[in-house]
Amino acid sequence: SAVSESHTDAFVAFDRVQKSYDGASLVVKDLNLNIGKGEFLTMLGPSGSGKTTCLMMLAGFETATNGEIRLDGTNINMVPPHKRGIGMVFQNYALFPHMTVGENLSFPLEVRGMDKSTREAKIKRALDMVQMGAFANRRPAQLSGGQQQRIALARALVFDPKLVLMDEPLGALDKQLREHMQFEIKHLHESLGITVVYVTHDQGEALTMSDRIAVFNDGRIQQLAPPADLYERPDNSFVAGFIGENNKLPGTIEDLSGDKALVRLATGELID
Ligand code: ADP
Repeated sequence: SAVSESHTDAFVAFDRVQKSYDGASLVVKDLNLNIGKGEFLTMLGPSGSGKTTCLMMLAGFETATNGEIRLDGTNINMVPPHKRGIGMVFQNYALFPHMTVGENLSFPLEVRGMDKSTREAKIKRALDMVQMGAFANRRPAQLSGGQQQRIALARALVFDPKLVLMDEPLGALDKQLREHMQFEIKHLHESLGITVVYVTHDQGEALTMSDRIAVFNDGRIQQLAPPADLYERPDNSFVAGFIGENNKLPGTIEDLSGDKALVRLATGELID
């Protein structure tokens, strides 16, 4: 498996990372993961498999119990969140309700000590990026869910982060809007050349958006591969089941011993 591959030029590196909360059992067991600059890397897996914990350690809101996390070659274990240059988007938007859209976007710039005219230029550019230029004076409660999610995206991008983390960012949106926003996020990723680490339990979302997918289960990466490889050559039955079942393969996985998964159709025919 590709769990412990080694790139020397990794932009983000998890190096033998383990995490337990308050001395309880390990929820991240032995994570080795290198993410390239400009990559769209998705952490995919069932609830409780340790994905959000990995994101929180990368963001600096949780500390690794063992091991090292590096960003651009530097160990960031002791670097506070706002000094990491990381933008974040969450499912629940986490916009400040008492602030206007403009003030929400200004906040991360003020934290970084930017002057007013620089802030205004960056806010305008970020709002234009998500086609929300006309909404700077609204409050979050005056926006639809999709609009709020766009503002959350703009706020994550406004300070030109080195890295953007997204944790189920589209989970609260309906299917049609979710698909549209997947397209927008992918477009921003490509046009800005940013590195994205994206967490989801939605296989379809992972397959459409990612350069590579790390399939998590029980605190470990089960397989790390581009979407097509996961689909065509799952390393083990967990990956085959998780990817296959949820993408509504036309049949059931029959045999994983070869280099392709054999799928038995309802007609009895075997395909790979
Ligand atoms: P996922 O994002 O894949 O759903 P999480 O990283 O949220 O997984 O959770 C992994 C495990 O860690 C779960 O068993 C969860 O209950 C536990 N956990 C997550 N956050 C905390 C916390 N703040 N305190 C204690 N346990 C936690």
